[in-house]
Amino acid sequence: MSLNFCILASGSSGNCSVIWTEKATVLIDCGCSAKYITENLGVLSIVPQNLTAAVITHAHTDHISTSGLGFLRKNNIPVYLHEDAFEDAFRKYDRKIEECISIPLYENFKIKDIFVESFDVYHKDENVSRTFGFAFSSEINARKYKIGYVTDTGRICKKIIRNLIDSNILVLESNYNRMMLDSSFRSYDNKKWVLSDWGHLANEDAARAIAEIKMLSAGRDSLKYVFLAHISSHHNTHELALKTVKEILISKGISDIKLFTARRKQRCPVIRIR
Ligand SMILES: [Zn+2]
Repeated sequence: MSLNFCILASGSSGNCSVIWTEKATVLIDCGCSAKYITENLGVLSIVPQNLTAAVITHAHTDHISTSGLGFLRKNNIPVYLHEDAFEDAFRKYDRKIEECISIPLYENFKIKDIFVESFDVYHKDENVSRTFGFAFSSEINARKYKIGYVTDTGRICKKIIRNLIDSNILVLESNYNRMMLDSSFRSYDNKKWVLSDWGHLANEDAARAIAEIKMLSAGRDSLKYVFLAHISSHHNTHELALKTVKEILISKGISDIKLFTARRKQRCPVIRIR
């Protein structure tokens, strides 16, 4: 028995991850090309036709792309998405999203042996009315293991923290460095949105959230792996995100988390919990 996790791609050019057990294989977001997803699943020995389901965080193109939607339709993969996300996607993709096997996303649901909790996060604009974070859990040898997943949120509140407590693996957005964002070429309106409660998360805020989740978890050693996700190529670097988060964690006495940065077009290492 095992719970396995891999980020295939992360960032504004496309997001896609996969979680699998012996019974179920679930894709999280489908914002890359069908070719990229198929090739990278192939490296993990996962055949697209055998995917049990996909879950979608929100309808921005980097989370559900035209090609990604084609991949889901072609392989008849059931897609869990909230009715608000369906409406957002419908405005963009019209009948193509209707041709998907879409299943309404409720707060808690089960995909075979993977239990999924969904919760609201803070991320919206004129194209997206609602965004979700997820907590996936599964039992291995009578012990529950959990993967927390929040890739787009302008802020972190107590409710989000509560949903992520006791994660063994955590994926959290660490989008920007404030100084780099201030001096970037982006328009004033775009910067204002990124900085807002409905935009993206700064490195420091990600670090503080990770520390809080770690300290509030019942088993203080439960959080072993953290992936810093959705790192901006314009107003952040992998080195800076890693350094900032590491320094804040160390200042809070936390040094036993293995930190990764998730790349744009490069698979992350597979984490296997047995
Ligand atoms: Zn987004």
